[in-house]
Amino acid sequence: HDPVQTTKTSVHGAINMLGLAKRVGAKILQASTSEVYGDPQVHPQGEDYWGHVNPIGPRSCYDEGKRCAETLFFDYWRQNKLRIKVVRIFNTYGPRMHPNDGRVVSNFIVQALLGKDITVYGDGTQTRAFCYVDDMIDALARMMATGDEVTGPVNVGDPTEFSMLDLAGLVVDLVGARSKIVRKTPPTDDPRQRRPDIALAQKHLAWAPRTPLKEGLTRTVAYFDKLLADAAVRDALINEPSA
Ligand code: UDP
Repeated sequence: HDPVQTTKTSVHGAINMLGLAKRVGAKILQASTSEVYGDPQVHPQGEDYWGHVNPIGPRSCYDEGKRCAETLFFDYWRQNKLRIKVVRIFNTYGPRMHPNDGRVVSNFIVQALLGKDITVYGDGTQTRAFCYVDDMIDALARMMATGDEVTGPVNVGDPTEFSMLDLAGLVVDLVGARSKIVRKTPPTDDPRQRRPDIALAQKHLAWAPRTPLKEGLTRTVAYFDKLLADAAVRDALINEPSA
């Protein structure tokens, strides 16, 4: 939607927060992302993989912005002895997602609840591994509680991989929807496959996700169902062109 502002948020935002952390002597965590691996050529992705990122594509503003933020965190750590924590968050979902931010879990659930077509981009065989929000929060809290020697980056996410067609089928079943699946043009540089290697998180945080996708989706469907009970929200989403 706004690529320039996306890079500015990641880079200027990191500079501002790191400056503040330095001034007040605070410990600081960067919510980095699996997008730093780009369209990975190594699978699953471990933290020592440097990634495969297009620097000039329409997705680059986010990927490169977050990569630059990681660089800034490690430079403040080396140069100013700042106490940093960097986690690379893989696809996370759950209640309170925005109904139209365009991500796949919210899109599919809202589409199914409204009886609209489910929009699968490309052939739907691309994969992601989805982590439930409560598990993610637990990992972030554990990361903040580690000793200063644990800087990361540490991958946090659920290592169980699903294709977008699997996900569409699961959502349609859970909602009991009659929606049909339609194919749409895939976004440029859409990663084909993504799954975290979470050995480091297990080691440093004694953490692994506990919520199976079906259970997390059931709670997320209940959230959106309640949200869509509000006629104004529902009407706005019905009238919006599909993602
Ligand atoms: N996707 C899809 N239909 C949608 C939204 C997304 O098939 O309505 C696909 C998208 O092309 C990608 C995957 O779902 O392959 C995950 O997309 P999302 O934007 O949620 O996360 P990210 O690509 O950042 O992992």
